[in-house]
Amino acid sequence: MVLALLAVIPLLVLVYLLFYGGFSGPVDWLMRTQRHLRRDRKVVALTFDDGPDPVRTPALLDVLAEANAPATFFLLGDAVEMHPDVVTRMAAEGHELGNHTYCHRYLPLARSRSVERELARTDAAITQATGQVPMVARPPWGGRSPWTVRAFARLAKRLVLWDVNSYDWKGKPADEVVARVLERTRPGSIILMHEAREGGEVTIEAVRRLIPALRARGYQLVTVSGALSPSRA
Ligand SMILES: [Zn+2]
Repeated sequence: MVLALLAVIPLLVLVYLLFYGGFSGPVDWLMRTQRHLRRDRKVVALTFDDGPDPVRTPALLDVLAEANAPATFFLLGDAVEMHPDVVTRMAAEGHELGNHTYCHRYLPLARSRSVERELARTDAAITQATGQVPMVARPPWGGRSPWTVRAFARLAKRLVLWDVNSYDWKGKPADEVVARVLERTRPGSIILMHEAREGGEVTIEAVRRLIPALRARGYQLVTVSGALSPSRA
């Protein structure tokens, strides 16, 4: 029994590493997921996962509006149902809305029909709040397997990951988050952030400083589907 358990643990670790979205892996090469935008222009996309939050998301929207900067939000269906007015505002202010599943499950080992149901339920909530159907989607933790990717494709979603992880959830000060992002950003980068969580104020402060710093380096801020890599179209 103990031996069987010992054999299973490395296997689980391997499966986790293979499917975790933080690394480019065989699933991306085979299934053509989007980890970045086109690299031939100095464009960059800010993306925010796990919202909406009734307090922090409006504060973030204020910062984006003040800077006249578009962003892409990967939203959870259950949170959209609770706070549809925040999502209506996002759409009205020109941000792109993406699907981040209904309740943030780890998907690689889920049945593809249940993945489709989660995506469809989230689409329905976003459409009810905004009249729009998301074109892009991001699995929780970036976890994807070939069958997850196929479920996304059946619902006509572009599966979007990231190439710059801000690690804004780690509790570091805003300065460090900004420095980390600036150091790693290059043309076409998709930056992963989270404002709709405890400590999200740090993310909002980081965004306030990041937007002028990116623009000073010649970057144009875009939504994800505004500049997807053409070779992956
Ligand atoms: Zn998430």
